[in-house]
Amino acid sequence: VIRYRIVPIHPAAHLWQVTVTVDKPDARGQRFMLPSWIPGSYMIREFARHVGRVAAHCGDAPVACEKVDKNTWKCSPVDGPLTLSYTVYAWDLSVRGAHLDDTHGFFNGANVFMLVEGQREGACEIEIVRPTGERYQGWKVATSLAGPTADDGGRDFGVYHAENYDALIDHPVEMGLFTHATFEACGVKHHVVLTGRHRADMTRLTNDLQKVCETQIRLFEPETATAPMSEYWFLITVVGDGFGGLEHRASTALIVSRDELPLANEPRVTTGYRKLLSLASHEYFHTWNVKRILPERFAPYDLTQENYTKQLWFFEGFTDYYDDLMLVRSGVITVLEYLELEADGIGRVLSQAGRTKQSVAESSFDAWIKYYRQDENSPNSIVSYYQKGALIGLALDLTIRQATQDQKSLDDVMRQLWTRFGKTGIGVPEGEIERGATAVAGIDLGDFFAQTVYGTTDPDLVGLLATVGVTLSWRANGTTGSSTTKAPERVLPTLGAKLASESNGDAKLAQVFDGGSAMAAGLSAGDTIVAVDRLRVNAGSLERRIRSYDIGSTLDVIAFRRDEMMELKLTLLEPTTSTCVLTLNESPPEAKTRRTNWLGR
Ligand code: ZN
Repeated sequence: VIRYRIVPIHPAAHLWQVTVTVDKPDARGQRFMLPSWIPGSYMIREFARHVGRVAAHCGDAPVACEKVDKNTWKCSPVDGPLTLSYTVYAWDLSVRGAHLDDTHGFFNGANVFMLVEGQREGACEIEIVRPTGERYQGWKVATSLAGPTADDGGRDFGVYHAENYDALIDHPVEMGLFTHATFEACGVKHHVVLTGRHRADMTRLTNDLQKVCETQIRLFEPETATAPMSEYWFLITVVGDGFGGLEHRASTALIVSRDELPLANEPRVTTGYRKLLSLASHEYFHTWNVKRILPERFAPYDLTQENYTKQLWFFEGFTDYYDDLMLVRSGVITVLEYLELEADGIGRVLSQAGRTKQSVAESSFDAWIKYYRQDENSPNSIVSYYQKGALIGLALDLTIRQATQDQKSLDDVMRQLWTRFGKTGIGVPEGEIERGATAVAGIDLGDFFAQTVYGTTDPDLVGLLATVGVTLSWRANGTTGSSTTKAPERVLPTLGAKLASESNGDAKLAQVFDGGSAMAAGLSAGDTIVAVDRLRVNAGSLERRIRSYDIGSTLDVIAFRRDEMMELKLTLLEPTTSTCVLTLNESPPEAKTRRTNWLGR
């Protein structure tokens, strides 16, 4: 057994004290390694940069310990039990980090627990210690790790267990004075924990989550409705402005904005709450898709460096497709609300020029240096394997339904992958998803995958959505008038650029889009526009001013690049993007039946 002990030693200084004790250290000198990244978030993060004061001892005797590379320490050979101790600075309030202050503590094992090299498969014991002091007496623990149960059915401080190192780092831990609620889904206890100030309607939140969880369990196991975990924890951190989630085998860590929580006095499903439900549904779907059905390259993870796979369009993209689909099938959103979400997704993908330059297979492979490290050029150069992957999932689902006359669907592909790979723990080889889908569809899907996954072609959504009685149309961005007034519509010009959100009110460009007016005029990211046609503009007035002109007008623009003033001619071009609209049409009965099968409503 490898024994870990973690103590919130100095909350005000954001310091955890960690010790790891190895009974049988490597006779050549034990090496300890802290991961360079956390599974689920594909970027090298070098968690070792937050490690301080490393020391080793054997009994009472100090043992020499030296750093051998950026994230590895090596101790001198010793006979008896070896204990390594170190501090970890924790001031990263993100789902992939570690955070500690006098209001709460949160950590992912990958941030704080060093791997004992050569003993990755060894069972682990983890002592989680309460901070010292009166004010911490009421603190509780929330985690899917197996450990001591508190009076309220949650967890308590004490000794926890993990079957090996990979399990140890796959159960994040929250501690503090949080709100805790539970519900059962298909007989499995689910916990919902909210950290941070809030006024959430917990009953509504748990009722909605329960429906979504049950729908997902039944998708993968329609006969038995059995879940692959014995308990599940939603660890939710509430902040003023934030969004993110990270999946784990029996829990998820989410960060949401306070405005996204359901309130007792607002019975509607607001767009914010819909976003929260989508996120929770997404991470829960990962319990099967990517935590258990996983790329061959991730079995096991190499925690020291990039793990390349071309399959994130499936593991993230199809999870993105299913997250909203599970909301409508479980009844927490309506069909029309679902179509609105899908239309947004389609519009987002098809308005980015980057999708014509990078395939989702390439985007998956380069996630480490591109999707996760976006800059001002990203909209023009990359495609999101989430967003386009979701559209490929939608297109594939509708294609299979059409090809099999509604006998099969993408659900069957997911279930087969679950049976063959998820339940056996075998990684999914490159190309296997395509083979599995082709077998279920019973038609040749070679061109479909070659074009949409490995090429940069958009899936044919207009034709496919028509088979389920949904019309896809486009509306020019910024048209005036509305369908009710029937006033003549006018397409409004746009700059073809995105303004920086924080620039003291200046009209500073954050991104300049391919083919837009700003790029044609010679403006670049970082430039600040100060005057249009000899009138001063700022972030609040620029767009309004632009919209007052007609397409084709040429304006005098004064801008600054760094501290150098530029005088430019800017001609307003047609907008390069438009808004996607999905509507239900008066379709033949077979389309309606197929739609009912698809959406479950
Ligand atoms: Zn995801």
